[in-house]
Amino acid sequence: MASQIFFPKDVISQLLVIGASVVPDVPVASMLILDKLKGKQPLKEQTKNFIKVNGIFHSLIIWLISGLCWPVFVGGYSHLLLDRISHSGEKFREVDPSMLWPLPWKLRGIFEYRKKHGELFSPVDIMLTILCILLFTWLRFSFPK
Ligand SMILES: [Zn+2]
Repeated sequence: MASQIFFPKDVISQLLVIGASVVPDVPVASMLILDKLKGKQPLKEQTKNFIKVNGIFHSLIIWLISGLCWPVFVGGYSHLLLDRISHSGEKFREVDPSMLWPLPWKLRGIFEYRKKHGELFSPVDIMLTILCILLFTWLRFSFPK
């Protein structure tokens, strides 16, 4: 959605946004597939190294580099911000990416979307979606190209 709002009629930029918004979850997705293939409960056991790699892929600091390419920046940060807002669960505290790698602190979210499986939309989700649309619309018109 961010890709449409920021880069109307610019297909390459739109693809860059979408691509970049997927990149941070590449390690998690690969691990999930591997666990499924091995018949293990996905992502139950995570090694220290894996948690670190995931942290690097989700680091707000590392992604600052993408500021050199505006569409990649928009894509990367829209993923990171959504993850940031939606990851507050205590039981995931140990394995969640720190978001500030290489700094030692961990940011926690406002709500936790992973505790209710099967329930797709809560009032909070809908409210956040509307807020995001308003924010993106505002950003779109605040930064003329
Ligand atoms: Zn993520």
